Amino acid sequence: MTGVHRLLAPNPGPMTGPGTNTYLVVSGHDCVVIDPGPPEESHRRAILGAVGDLRLRGLLVTHTHPDHALLADPLAAETGVNTYGYGPGPGFNPTRRLRDGDRLRFGEAVLTAVHTPGHTADHLCFRMGATVFTGDHIIGESTVLVEDMGDYYRSLDRIRALRPERLLPGHGNRMDNAAEAIAAYISHRREREAQILKAVRSGARTVGAVVREVYGEVDPRLRSAAAGSALAHLRHLAGRGTISLECGEGTDDELAGVAVLDAGVA
Ligand SMILES: [Zn+2]
Repeated sequence: MTGVHRLLAPNPGPMTGPGTNTYLVVSGHDCVVIDPGPPEESHRRAILGAVGDLRLRGLLVTHTHPDHALLADPLAAETGVNTYGYGPGPGFNPTRRLRDGDRLRFGEAVLTAVHTPGHTADHLCFRMGATVFTGDHIIGESTVLVEDMGDYYRSLDRIRALRPERLLPGHGNRMDNAAEAIAAYISHRREREAQILKAVRSGARTVGAVVREVYGEVDPRLRSAAAGSALAHLRHLAGRGTISLECGEGTDDELAGVAVLDAGVA
């Protein structure tokens, strides 16, 4: 029998929603932990308490953002098990590096790594039968920050092609209609892209101007996140030749700082 238990980390906030979801995946007497989470003492105790007498076989990390990865190395030192991830990041250095298609067996269960760059270049999802652990690739009740939009679109297609039934995200609640959740993510991105292109065509010439046009009033705590997402969309549009983008200093917009849009709109 395989079971999944969610342990919510005590790190709620504007970027983490209710907090990071740590998953304990149990098969027989074996278990693994997906995304140990932030280095909070109460969370460390909750994880070890949930493991109890089970045999812990590994600590898996979807990507190296601190709210997912930072507790991995300390827990590994304490328990003597391997850590698994795509590669090292700040405060995390996996003992085993995973690549797309790598499989981890424990008990009767098999977890398959699916490389899903976009949110970060080092992002992995983990597939187990009809379930996909999606980390920050797809989260519950919100959208995610994207570093590279082209990669992100491809990675959404990648997960859709697996035809999962349910998604267990790094933040928010599980999604029991995976197809619907993925379709909603894709249409949200296409809609944003259309809005951003429209903003450029109607004269927005800095990232800040695009953000104001598309997102309206933004919670100050989320401003740089909105600018980052807008910039990822703009780069994607520029990569396809739909617009041209000039990166440099000297914009007077507090949000932009990094980019000026050229007037050359196709
Ligand atoms: Zn993240």
